[in-house]
Amino acid sequence: MFKLSSVRARLISYYLLSVALLVGVSVYALIQMLALDRLTESLDRRWIVGTRVLGEMADLLSETRLAETRLALAMDQQTTDKAVADADGFLTSLGYQRAAYGLLHKTEEEQRLLATFDSAWDNWVAQHRAWLALPPDQRLATSPAFQSGAEALYQSADDAIDALGDVNAAGAAAAGARADHIVDTSGTIFGIVVFFALLLASWVTWIIHSSISQPLASITKALSELAAGNRGIVIPQVGRHDEIGSMAAAFEVFRNNAVKLEESQALAEALARYDTLTGLANRRVLAEELEKALSRVDRGEAPFAVLLIDLDRFKPVNDIHGHSAGDLVLGEITARLRAVVRKHDTLARIGGDEFAIICDLADEGRDSTSMPIALAERIIAAVAAPVAIGTRMVEVGASIGIALCPADGVNAEALLRAADIAMYRAKQAGRGRFRFYEESMDTELKAKAAMEADVQRGLAASEIEPHYQALIELSGGRLLGFEILARWRHPEKGLVAPDLFIPVIERLGLMTEFTLTMLRRACLDAKEWPADLKLSLNVSPHELTDVLFPVRLLAVLAEKDFKPSRLEIEITENALVADLATAKTILQALQNAGIKIALDDFGTGYSSLYHLRELKLDKIKIDRSFIKSMKDNAESTKIVNGILGLAKSLALPATAEGIDDADILLRLSDAGCEIGQGNYFGKPMPATDASKIARQPRGKGKLRVVA
Ligand code: C2E
Ligand code: CA
Ligand code: CA
Repeated sequence: MFKLSSVRARLISYYLLSVALLVGVSVYALIQMLALDRLTESLDRRWIVGTRVLGEMADLLSETRLAETRLALAMDQQTTDKAVADADGFLTSLGYQRAAYGLLHKTEEEQRLLATFDSAWDNWVAQHRAWLALPPDQRLATSPAFQSGAEALYQSADDAIDALGDVNAAGAAAAGARADHIVDTSGTIFGIVVFFALLLASWVTWIIHSSISQPLASITKALSELAAGNRGIVIPQVGRHDEIGSMAAAFEVFRNNAVKLEESQALAEALARYDTLTGLANRRVLAEELEKALSRVDRGEAPFAVLLIDLDRFKPVNDIHGHSAGDLVLGEITARLRAVVRKHDTLARIGGDEFAIICDLADEGRDSTSMPIALAERIIAAVAAPVAIGTRMVEVGASIGIALCPADGVNAEALLRAADIAMYRAKQAGRGRFRFYEESMDTELKAKAAMEADVQRGLAASEIEPHYQALIELSGGRLLGFEILARWRHPEKGLVAPDLFIPVIERLGLMTEFTLTMLRRACLDAKEWPADLKLSLNVSPHELTDVLFPVRLLAVLAEKDFKPSRLEIEITENALVADLATAKTILQALQNAGIKIALDDFGTGYSSLYHLRELKLDKIKIDRSFIKSMKDNAESTKIVNGILGLAKSLALPATAEGIDDADILLRLSDAGCEIGQGNYFGKPMPATDASKIARQPRGKGKLRVVA
């Protein structure tokens, strides 16, 4: 169904109106035609036939008169007979015609005239018959008398016929006038109808134009404006409650959507080009600007430098103070960078705490380094100033790598890589520095990549194996257990120390797997060792962020049927600062299973009392650097004594590592250090050697553990 207000309904009503009008006109025309037809019929039947019959009668009358004359003048019998027969025939025919006319015409006037005719005619017929009955000679003699008598009758009958003729003529004239009238009024009415039909047609056309065509045209015009980009255009006809209104409303929705789409496109474009946090150009814009700078170099116009800035110590800001503090710091650093970078140089943020600058060297003449050096120094100084976060102050730094175009590369990728390598070297050199790219750096980087590949291969080939260094009870010289220390039995390089490959494994993200592999192998090696001998496993910071680590470690112990109480793990303090809560949970889980926790390298890191107490650690291991330097450094001895005092007050046993002579051993023992480890007792050794020592009878006073 359709709504009454719809365009369809309107068109249908116009159509119905037109049809009704047409039907009306047709019916009227039909009625008029029927009337005309009836008139014509009556004309035919009455007046025309009547007139014809009257003419016939007048003719017959004359013929009869002529036959009577011929009879009177007849000289022989034959002519006489012929004239008598003719006259008889004419009179009979006249009788028929008279009867026929009587059937057609019945008006009073006609009846009267017919009566006149009938009496004249009857008399005449009577006289005619009487005259005929006379003998021929008498007939001639009486002819003039008869003729004159008949003449009057003839005149009377003829007059009656004439009068009837007039009646017929008048009737025909009246019918004709009526027909004329019908035709005239029909014409007039038809004209009026045509006039109104034209009026209606014009009205309908005008209505269709004003309510349909014109609104459609205005919408079309608005649409073409919209297509041409005029988003402010008002779509007409929106308020209408019909299809055109719906269409206009749909176009309005379309217009609004287009506007929204364009706005969000613009926003997306901005987002795609600018960093939301700092408002700086992003990596994409940097790439575009680099291409432009490169094409200028191509045309021999101007060399330029790419500076890659990486913030130092930014991660701890995020970790300790939270991400919103990190964001504040980035905002402040951005403002400082903006202040030192020239307006026409490009400054972009290309990573969390990484920025890049394209530094134009057009005005630098031959010396292409002085400008980047000055800029780098200004940046380092600006970034190094403390940043306030609320009431607290944090300090970050900037390490900068610089690549020159065209000297260090002629495409974006090569330049960014060169700057990145230089930046990495600046970090390695101690942070807060800048470095220009040098080709040798790349060589080292390639060596690093080769090392990573080699470590992966070595791990897959199980070339890295646990070695064992004895842990000795200093008071009695008894063997307590072994620290597991990894060694890489390299097919070409021989035995490789862990300092060279542990960081690589860490970088490759394979640390947890590696630690568990070491433990698995150590459990196997220690299977036949006395049950009181302990194993001490080094665990790196990464594992203390992995909440599944305890489960996996305990699974290995269960698999190898190795009692958790025989295991000790060694952690360093930098494993604790990243996420203390998680580390605490993990350590707690391990301790709950019966595993002891030792804090390794104590004295080098934070040496935090808080950590010792909060984490309920079981042991501390004094870093070997202090032990070694006790020999000729009184300060170290004081530190070691201090640490031992601290351990005592916390009731924590202490292990001294790196003991390599008897003198130091004695001093430590005197100072109350419980456990010792070092080359004096025995270097880290393969499992076979450790097994021999483990199985030797152990007694008091036996301090050296040579296999
Ligand atoms: P660490 O945990 O502090 O291990 C003690 C280091 O001191 C060992 O070096 C050991 O050989 C060395 N050492 C012991 N006594 C003496 C001595 O009298 N003189 C000298 N000069 N050195 C002595 P190593 O085996 O080279 O290990 C270095 C570091 O590598 C370890 O330091 C540890 O942090 C790490 N590491 C070794 N194996 C593993 C492992 O399996 N997993 C993890 N996560 N780290 C390991
Ligand atoms: Ca250790
Ligand atoms: Ca250590």
